[in-house]
Amino acid sequence: VRCIVIGAGAVGCAVAWRLRQRGYSVTLVDRGPPAGEASQAAAGILSPQAEAHGPGPLFELSLKSREKWPAFAAELEQSSGMSVGYRRTGTRMLALDETEAAALAARADWQRAAGLRADWQAPALHLPDDHQVEPPLLGAALWAAAERSGARLVTGWARRILGDGARVTGVLVDDQPLDAERVVLAAGAWSSLVDGLPPLPRVRPLRGQLLELTGSPGLVESVVFGDGGYLVPRADGRVLVGSSEEEAGFVKQVTPEVLARLCRRALRLAPELASAAVTRFWSGLRPTTDDRLPVLGATALAGLIAATGHHRNGILLAPITAEIVAALVAGEPPAVELQPFSPAR
Ligand SMILES: Cc1cc2nc3c(=O)[nH]c(=O)nc-3n(C[C@H](O)[C@H](O)[C@H](O)COP(=O)(O)OP(=O)(O)OC[C@H]3O[C@@H](n4cnc5c(N)ncnc54)[C@H](O)[C@@H]3O)c2cc1C
Repeated sequence: VRCIVIGAGAVGCAVAWRLRQRGYSVTLVDRGPPAGEASQAAAGILSPQAEAHGPGPLFELSLKSREKWPAFAAELEQSSGMSVGYRRTGTRMLALDETEAAALAARADWQRAAGLRADWQAPALHLPDDHQVEPPLLGAALWAAAERSGARLVTGWARRILGDGARVTGVLVDDQPLDAERVVLAAGAWSSLVDGLPPLPRVRPLRGQLLELTGSPGLVESVVFGDGGYLVPRADGRVLVGSSEEEAGFVKQVTPEVLARLCRRALRLAPELASAAVTRFWSGLRPTTDDRLPVLGATALAGLIAATGHHRNGILLAPITAEIVAALVAGEPPAVELQPFSPAR
């Protein structure tokens, strides 16, 4: 079976790697370098417990993917020969006033009731099982693993899904038709721009800006959530400060207004960062749907599988997404109930 994966972000590369491990012929199509978009820009928090607003299918999916992360990171490092910066630093959610404290105490209650570790000691909720990874390293490793396993990269725009009316038959890449029996749509924020798709929930770009500060290693020890955003410390002293959620179309711009907000947030959450150096800033486009759930599963066009719309959690969800897609291509039942994420919803 020949498979084409449209989009070589973290999702597309992970899918390609898993499909190659099952022996399928895999062509990744990307208009740019692998993992050059959202998967490069992300902070790398693997944090279902801090991200969830409550129990539900996305929370369950996220927990399942988090469980896979330690073994996924180890296997990926082995296959690629590269580090992915996976760290079990845990997450602290910090309350800055009484209302936030009450909300965090309630979060601790429902998460403990769900059997998870969540330790509330005012003013912070400690989530020891939420982890982090370094997305630029992850992207490079995923592409290396996919390539080493035999996936081929075609550089160009996937313009149109080709079909015979009932089944997918390939993809038009620039003006070149490529044949395939299975096509996986993993084009991130650009997914809805491909022609010839069956009806799918719309995926749109939601911009996020990030600031990187560099101080002494250990100034910030765990991921910190608070003030509407987060800090993500790397082992070498870099601390990412994120992020914004902006409807800005496909414009990847960094703005003084958001940078100023990120600087204030850094100092509120960790005043000891006041003399850190500003070392970098950037933005990326999250693939976001109206209901903020991923679009995952077989579509109305036989042979076309959607793996997109991962919004704020595509890095966290890459391992489980890749396994689900590989199972669908093989005609096996996926390990997760996909109805809530159905492309036909
Ligand atoms: C600021 C920011 C912080 C984030 N932090 C986190 C985090 O901490 N944890 C987390 O889990 N997630 C985080 N995310 C979300 C995460 O980055 C995304 O959900 C994830 O990267 C999506 O991966 P993807 O492979 O679907 O998309 P992308 O990485 O965007 O890849 C899509 C690829 O498809 C290609 N493409 C698109 N259309 C076409 C076409 N027609 N033809 C050819 N190629 C095409 C693009 O060039 C691109 O390479 C963050 C996102 C942002 C912006």
